[in-house]
Amino acid sequence: MADPRGFLSTDRELPKRRPVDLRLQDWREVYEEFDAGRLEKQAGRCMDCGIPFCHNGCPLGNLIPEWNDLVWSGDWQDAIERLHATNNFPEFTGRLCPAPCEAACVLGINADPVTIKQVEVSIIDRAWDEGWVTPQPPDRLSGRTVAVIGSGPAGLAAAQQLVRAGHTVAVYERADRIGGLLRYGIPEFKMEKRHLDRRLSQMEAEGVKFRAGVEIGIDVTGMDLRQRYDAVVVAIGATNWRDLSVPGRQLSASTRPWSTCPWPIASRRGTSGSRRSTSPASTWSSSAVATPVRTAWARPIDRVRRP
Ligand SMILES: Cc1cc2nc3c(=O)[nH]c(=O)nc-3n(C[C@H](O)[C@H](O)[C@H](O)COP(=O)(O)OP(=O)(O)OC[C@H]3O[C@@H](n4cnc5c(N)ncnc54)[C@H](O)[C@@H]3O)c2cc1C
Ligand code: SF4
Repeated sequence: MADPRGFLSTDRELPKRRPVDLRLQDWREVYEEFDAGRLEKQAGRCMDCGIPFCHNGCPLGNLIPEWNDLVWSGDWQDAIERLHATNNFPEFTGRLCPAPCEAACVLGINADPVTIKQVEVSIIDRAWDEGWVTPQPPDRLSGRTVAVIGSGPAGLAAAQQLVRAGHTVAVYERADRIGGLLRYGIPEFKMEKRHLDRRLSQMEAEGVKFRAGVEIGIDVTGMDLRQRYDAVVVAIGATNWRDLSVPGRQLSASTRPWSTCPWPIASRRGTSGSRRSTSPASTWSSSAVATPVRTAWARPIDRVRRP
């Protein structure tokens, strides 16, 4: 167990937000760095419950008390191994997940829950900084081929597991860049795209082939894929949206309220991986905001069918 008295002696603490004045100047993530010593104390608040409800709370079944204990005792390298045992991309979940584990934490019954999500993201950020995250190519190839359709987190996780098992894997993506909603849905201030690009480089080094700008069903038929590959994984997300019956929905395209799908995707195309638009001002002044689906950036969205 982590610190036996940690939950009594240490209060829950999270990183501070960067000052608003600073955040207005860029698109970078909101939170400041959290130093390792304070984080280890936070991990020490874990009570290592006999029945760790956080396991059930986490959709991935992350081994939370195990890596809390390892972080508390300063063994960060083993902590990333235990974290990667259930989670291909902790840098994504540690930034984006709504943390149902914390809602399930037993300490949360009568006190503030353990900062599980912060411990998770700190483990993987440190692992990258220390060079502990390296490509894991398979020892031998199976001779089998797999096509993955869709390059969101689901498709990427499947591709990484399959390539490590020795299969030859190609990921097909209809958008111009790989990443699904990690690339074109999640705003930069929640997760900077360098985290995605770094992971994609690791996957390429492991042998995954990425094919962006190819829409299965239009550019290549499903039947072609079935013939060319031994197996096909369909991980195409859900870009169709549910229409809202709100006042103004019937107005013309430039004035009506936008669905959460096309609007942020179009604006992300102005910020994603682009050096020229690291400042909010440069993108807010672009036409992406006023007329998102009519910009050249929005080509794939035009193809999305309405329900
Ligand atoms: C604006 C927004 C903000 C969000 N913020 C958060 C958040 O903060 N935290 C969180 O946990 N979740 C968030 N989500 C939800 C999260 O992004 C999704 O749950 C997640 O991306 C789903 O992953 P996926 O791999 O299933 O699908 P997606 O990420 O949607 O990826 C599917 C991919 O398949 C591609 N594709 C579809 N059809 C084809 C085809 N025929 N041929 C080739 N490619 C195809 C699509 O272009 C897409 O890139 C957000 C979603 C949106 C829209
Ligand atoms: S924050 Fe991490 S540990 Fe918690 S539920 Fe999400 S993925 Fe699981």
